[in-house]
Amino acid sequence: MADLPGSGQGQSNDPRSAELAGRLAAVRKRIAGAAKSAGRGERLPALIVVTKFHPAEDIRRLAALGVTDVGENRDQEAAAKALELADLALTWHFVGQLQTKKAKSVARYAAAVHSVDRPQLVDALGKAVQSRMDATGRAPLDCFIQVSLEDDGGTHRGGAAPTDVPLLAERIAASDALNLAGVMAVAPLGAPPEPAFEKLAGISARLVAGYPGAGGISAGMSQDLEAAIKFGATHLRIGSDILGSRPAVG
Ligand SMILES: *Cc1c(COP(=O)(O)O)cnc(C)c1O
Repeated sequence: MADLPGSGQGQSNDPRSAELAGRLAAVRKRIAGAAKSAGRGERLPALIVVTKFHPAEDIRRLAALGVTDVGENRDQEAAAKALELADLALTWHFVGQLQTKKAKSVARYAAAVHSVDRPQLVDALGKAVQSRMDATGRAPLDCFIQVSLEDDGGTHRGGAAPTDVPLLAERIAASDALNLAGVMAVAPLGAPPEPAFEKLAGISARLVAGYPGAGGISAGMSQDLEAAIKFGATHLRIGSDILGSRPAVG
């Protein structure tokens, strides 16, 4: 532990840190290139490194390399890592499907939930975050409404139907403990991502018309970050292209 970067010793002797640094630089270069092609100039989207299945030590290495935002998709794993890394000034994003009974736990460490997709979850998060605000003075939780972009209207990869966005938005906006940050989506499997992200941009525009502060678009993973940036992503969620393939057992 004492030799890990982030504990003050730099990363020069740690091969895993060198590997992560190389992959991170390559992804940052792709992001800058895509933003330039999209005519977005210096307004780069935020990079959330999705660290699920990878050990807390890797997050410590990433923090030493300048990463500030990390994403996780399972509460048990995220809670344990956040506790272990409490000495770091990291912002934790919850990006996976979330059961209402986990809202209390998530409210302890997450600054944002990207997978808000049903009214019961809004209510559970609102209640849990409010009690943390009262007890610890934590900030309101940023909520992204996850939208399903499946052509058949299905929800195989999670998310609310686009027609449910207005009601969810209203419910989030009504809570003092929740901040309506925007929309989130995962591109459908086996289909080109561009039409999906274009559709998401339209959903975002309609949301922003009613809620000017809710302009966040959480979209873009390792495979499709260029397409997401082209259609206005403000938050990218990148896992495997930075960390390598996920270990078979978490
Ligand atoms: C795992 C995951 C990511 C990162 O995916 P990669 O393909 O590894 O970049 C992004 N978003 C969500 C919701 C995820 O579960």
